[in-house]
Amino acid sequence: MSKLFDLIQGQDRPLKILKRAIESNRVPTAYLFTGPPGCGRKKAAIAMAASLNCETSELACGTCISCTQVEAGIHVDLHVTAPEPGKTEIVIGQVRNIIERAYLMPMQGRHSIFIVDDAHTMNINATNAFLKTLEEPPVTSRFVLIAPDRDSVLPTISSRCQVLSFAPLGRGVIRDILKKSGVGGERAKLLSSMARGSMERAFTYHSDEVPEKLADEFEPLASLHKSDDKKLLDLAERWGRNREEALGILYFMAQWYRDMMILSLDGPEDQVIHISHLPELQEGATALKEGSLSTILEAIEDARDDLKKNTNVELTLDRLLLTIRSYAPEQPI
Ligand SMILES: [Zn+2]
Repeated sequence: MSKLFDLIQGQDRPLKILKRAIESNRVPTAYLFTGPPGCGRKKAAIAMAASLNCETSELACGTCISCTQVEAGIHVDLHVTAPEPGKTEIVIGQVRNIIERAYLMPMQGRHSIFIVDDAHTMNINATNAFLKTLEEPPVTSRFVLIAPDRDSVLPTISSRCQVLSFAPLGRGVIRDILKKSGVGGERAKLLSSMARGSMERAFTYHSDEVPEKLADEFEPLASLHKSDDKKLLDLAERWGRNREEALGILYFMAQWYRDMMILSLDGPEDQVIHISHLPELQEGATALKEGSLSTILEAIEDARDDLKKNTNVELTLDRLLLTIRSYAPEQPI
C-alpha cells in the first residue's frame, strides 16, 4: 500500500514501471513523463519524490513528516518549476535556479527532486542551460520533466531521459472522478466524453460552462446542410466574432462530424461524443457518405490551421460553411 500512488487512477502500466524502479533502487537521473494534462503525470512525480525521501518505506507511506511535506509542496528538497503565472515559457533564470540547487546536497532528505512541469515550454536558452545539468548529473538529484509527448521537447532532452508514457484517462475514470467531485451524472458523462483523456480539460470545461454554451450550437450545426446563404453568413458572423471562440467552435464541429464518421462506419456507439444527439447524427451519417465526411473533416482542419495564422476569422468560417454545405445531400430550396 502506498497512499500517494493509490490516489492516481487509470495509470497501472506506467506506475508499475515507476514503482519497480523505486523499489529496486534504480530510479534514473531523469524521467520524461508524457501524456495529456491532468492524467496523473504530476501526481506520479510527487509520489516518486515522496518515495525517494520517505522515512518509513520504499514507496511513499503518505503519512510521515517527509511525505506530508512533499504532498503539500513544502518539502525543502522538492523543487517544482513551471512557467511563471501569466507567462507561456520557462526561462533561463528559472533553469539557473534549478542548476544552483541541483549541485548541492539535499537539505533534509536523501534526494533532491526537480519537477519541471510543462517542460516543453522551456525556451531555447533555458533548454541549453538545462542540458548541461542532465549531462553531468549530481548523484543525489533526480529530475522529472512533464510534457504532452516525447516530440514536444527537443531530442537532445528526450534522449537523455527515460520516457514513461501516461495514457489519456479512460472516460469511465474521468466520469468517476467528476462524480466524486460532485458533478452530476449526465454532465459528468458529457464532460468525460469531451475531455479527451484529460482531467484538467474536464474541470476547465466544467467551470467554463462549455456544455451550456454548446447546447445553443447543436441546432445550427445539425441543420447546416439545409441552411440558405443568409443563414450561413449569419452563423459565420456569430461564430466568427473572436478567434479563440471560433477555434472552439471548429473543434466542436470536428467532433460532430467525427461522430457521424464513427456511425457511418458502424463503429461502437460508446465512441460517439455527442451521444445525446444520436438521432441527428444518425441522420447526417446516413445522408452524407464516408468520402464526404472525410473531406468535411479535412476542410475543418484546414480552417483551423488558417485561423491559427492571422486570417480573417469571419471569411474563413464563411468559406468553410459554404464548403460543408456543398456536400449537402440535397441542395437547399
Ligand atoms: Zn513517508
